Amino acid sequence: MRPDTPAENVDHTAEAARLERTAALYPEDAEALLLQAAAHLELADARPAATALYDRLLSTPDKLENAPLVRALKASNLWEYDHEAEARAIIDGLRTTAPRDPAPWVIIAESLESHDELEAAHDTFTEAATLLLTDVPEPPYATHPVLFGRHRVRRMLGLPHDDWDARADTLHSSSVSLDELHDPKRVWSLGSDNPAELEAEISRLQAELGAYREALSRPFPVAVLHWPAAELTELLSAYPDLATEYPSHPDHLATIESSLRELSASGTPNLGIVTGTVPSYEAFAASESSSPGDPTLLPQYATTLAARGRAVAWPPQRSADCWCGQDQPYDACHGAAL
Ligand SMILES: [Zn+2]
Ligand SMILES: [Zn+2]
Repeated sequence: MRPDTPAENVDHTAEAARLERTAALYPEDAEALLLQAAAHLELADARPAATALYDRLLSTPDKLENAPLVRALKASNLWEYDHEAEARAIIDGLRTTAPRDPAPWVIIAESLESHDELEAAHDTFTEAATLLLTDVPEPPYATHPVLFGRHRVRRMLGLPHDDWDARADTLHSSSVSLDELHDPKRVWSLGSDNPAELEAEISRLQAELGAYREALSRPFPVAVLHWPAAELTELLSAYPDLATEYPSHPDHLATIESSLRELSASGTPNLGIVTGTVPSYEAFAASESSSPGDPTLLPQYATTLAARGRAVAWPPQRSADCWCGQDQPYDACHGAAL
């Protein structure tokens, strides 16, 4: 089982062009594909071209699954190349319409934060938390960046911990605690006595923010391919060569979970699972002028499904159904401790 490869050493311009071509092949998945293409253009510093893609999507707002996300990404991109007034107008509009998805909130709050608008960033994170997390006992994973970002901005503003900050501390599972990471005393009180240390702390904060941005600018995850039992049986009877990849269905499921845990432990953000079907895999092989029996096609198939927006985020909430499709909560199934 090989996951999609992380976006290092990627020719972003070529990748954007490839994704645009794929969008023409799968118009029903154009939104996910063009968002990813725009992210690559941003990484290539082709910001006006990225804006053009966002505008292309926004010219059909009724057909979009997540128009607020597209608007937020557009605003953040615009502000990066001196279109501040336009960016602010979009951000104000998004705050007024109060989307139910955390991603646009995080993007606009971080855009404000990265342009030193800490008060406005704080207000935006707080609006999102109030809207999405009031009376929510277990905050969904997608909302964690709201709490972490708010925690970070509040430390920079020198504000005391509140309940949501305490929650952020509990949810944060990295080896460095949020308080250590975001401690304003560490950042600011070092002062001119030791500019090297000050600089190191600031770059640590920026690295954390950068990791989030990278995760967000890749709106679909690093995805591992999952075959339901019936599909795997059909696949292996049609293409016996693939049996070396998949010794048995239970092994296949266990490998998915262990690969994802390994990726997660190594700090890969934004993980997911894509589910294969034999007909869609055969169609993919045909579009690549290749044979479905070629195991090197499997990771490319996974990548293409993920690029088409077909990935389901991993891990599930502990009490939610397991990703494997057996009717059991995740923490009693593949999410059980090893
Ligand atoms: Zn804290
Ligand atoms: Zn399971």
